[in-house]
Amino acid sequence: MSKYQYCLLSLLALLLVFTGCSADNSLIDAGERDTLVQVSTFDALLAGNYDGVTEMGDLRKYGDFGIGTLDGLDGELIVLDGKFYDVRADGVAYAVTDTTTTPFASVTFFDIDREETLASGLSFADFQTMLDKMLPTDNLFYAIKIEGTFSYVKTRSVPAQEKPYPPLAEVTQNQPTFEFHDISGTIVGFRCPPYVTGINVTGYHLHFLTADKQAGGHLLDFTVAHAKVMVDNTYQFLMLLPGEGSDFYKEDLSVDRQGEAEQVEK
Ligand SMILES: [Zn+2]
Repeated sequence: MSKYQYCLLSLLALLLVFTGCSADNSLIDAGERDTLVQVSTFDALLAGNYDGVTEMGDLRKYGDFGIGTLDGLDGELIVLDGKFYDVRADGVAYAVTDTTTTPFASVTFFDIDREETLASGLSFADFQTMLDKMLPTDNLFYAIKIEGTFSYVKTRSVPAQEKPYPPLAEVTQNQPTFEFHDISGTIVGFRCPPYVTGINVTGYHLHFLTADKQAGGHLLDFTVAHAKVMVDNTYQFLMLLPGEGSDFYKEDLSVDRQGEAEQVEK
């Protein structure tokens, strides 16, 4: 074998090693359906890290279903059937472009593992108790979709913020809320396990979008008229952390923000 041939073979071997690596990485890469993929951490958002760090065009590779917020905390994000909506502080749902960025969001590809009809008159609190009993364990992630008509829905949104950003618990003190009566729509979100405290919202975190896709927000309360819940058991979890130069690099994330977390969800 000539020296030239040997070099060529070594190069081929090296190429194989590299392609082998990327094939392994694809196990948790874009397109994996049973993975909850989130941008940044909830504590970073609570601390006021509102600069968008991931483009929606990139996020859509990881899911067609999810929730979050937008650059500058400009509203409540809803991802439903691969379409991105932003319910801003005026309560109106706007279409979101692929170049818009998000500081915090969670998405997955929604597949129904379980579907149940919900009793008429069921409240948000009743729903949580009911689903808690129905789910096989507290310790998985679940994507949750509720579709139907509601005799009552209450949501909130958040007004866009300017730098220096105040903490989220300060912003939500003046949050605009919206009430809907006899409304059709879809509730979209997740139930996260208790061990992700500080990373995501533990328990139920749901957003609402009206059937005409014109309004909605972060869900505070509802009463079912005629609706069904669909649950997607989610076994994998992937975090996309902000890059160099982001506020995330400087934030002190050793602070316990559990009290603030509970405050901003209400
Ligand atoms: Zn929310």
